[in-house]
Amino acid sequence: MPIYFDYAATTPVRPEAAQAAYEVLTGNFGNPSSGYELGRRAAAALKGWRADVASALGCTPGEVFFTSCGTEGDNWALRAAARAMRRRGNHIITTAVEHAAVLETARFLEGEGFRVTYLKPDRTGHISVEEFRAALCGDTIAVSMMLVNNETGAVFPVAQCAKAAKARNRDILFHTDAVQGFCHVPFTPKGLGVDLLSVSGHKIGAPKGIGALYIKKEVQGKVKQLLFGGAQEDGRRPGTEPTAQIAAFAAACRAAGEQGPAALERARAVKEYALTRLTEHVPGLVVVSAGDAPHICAVSLPGYPSQMVMNALDGRGICVSNGSACHKGKPSHVFAALGLSPNVLMGVLRLSFSPESTREEVDALADALAQIARERLSAR
Ligand code: PLP
Repeated sequence: MPIYFDYAATTPVRPEAAQAAYEVLTGNFGNPSSGYELGRRAAAALKGWRADVASALGCTPGEVFFTSCGTEGDNWALRAAARAMRRRGNHIITTAVEHAAVLETARFLEGEGFRVTYLKPDRTGHISVEEFRAALCGDTIAVSMMLVNNETGAVFPVAQCAKAAKARNRDILFHTDAVQGFCHVPFTPKGLGVDLLSVSGHKIGAPKGIGALYIKKEVQGKVKQLLFGGAQEDGRRPGTEPTAQIAAFAAACRAAGEQGPAALERARAVKEYALTRLTEHVPGLVVVSAGDAPHICAVSLPGYPSQMVMNALDGRGICVSNGSACHKGKPSHVFAALGLSPNVLMGVLRLSFSPESTREEVDALADALAQIARERLSAR
């Protein structure tokens, strides 16, 4: 197995989650809509899994709508929010450093005549509440602001901005992409004051292909369904429920809850060790973002193309990222927005950790990066 520092891209499936999926795939495989015992058993289990996810999110089961991934939740939330409010105005606020799932939806909505403000981060990757407040106007109808940035690990001031938006106009629909925040930073949708919140299973030890959108009870009348079909997910997101993935997602949520904050502190401690060790050991390495969230940070080897460094590490059995996995091959719009010097921008690497990441793995990364840096220096 390679040494893995890309837990923000995806995580291995937790044994509890794999076991839960296996039991559904081979035993409790019924369709929850079927009117016989096997179906009823699946429906009862589904109810329990929904309650588990709701409990991890800190909301009621009736506010959890299963989706196929975080991207689906982001698309659904922002499109539905904009359309629900169309008659009240046409202005949307988001940030320039959202995931493509939000940015591309915003661009699509611009094509439909909505006006979108893309708030820029400061050099540390943070969004200013004052700038957000200044962007609000009488026409603002929807906001999408992520909770944790997937490339810098910066935590955005979602609660303060939601409060400011609601103070301006309580009907503004506020969405947050909490894909990197879920089970990594403490929050509840109510505590944040948001109406819509998307999460994804494969970032927390569930398989790929499952996510959820929280839709606050009070706005469910406004938010239109995503698909047309049967009665699943209250008719809003029809399609036979992927019960094995949902079971695994629920198991991953339970496991994360049982591990508690101590696991997150382990991830943070190994990240902090990495930042110190890499800065001391790798010639020229700079920290681009230490990350507020426990599991993500970004560093740079200025002047070294990150793709080249990534490939060289890959050759040594070490996985890191040079930006969101969804932007393969293109320069990261997030790091570009930080106003880094061209040399630093060129060499940015994102490192992301799990509570199981070890100092020995970090030492191996530090040695490999130091060697890559020295080889290049001697070739100049
Ligand atoms: N939002 C953020 C912040 C992400 O990091 C990701 C995935 O990297 C997504 C959305 C998309 O989630 P999914 O891969 O489940 O579609």
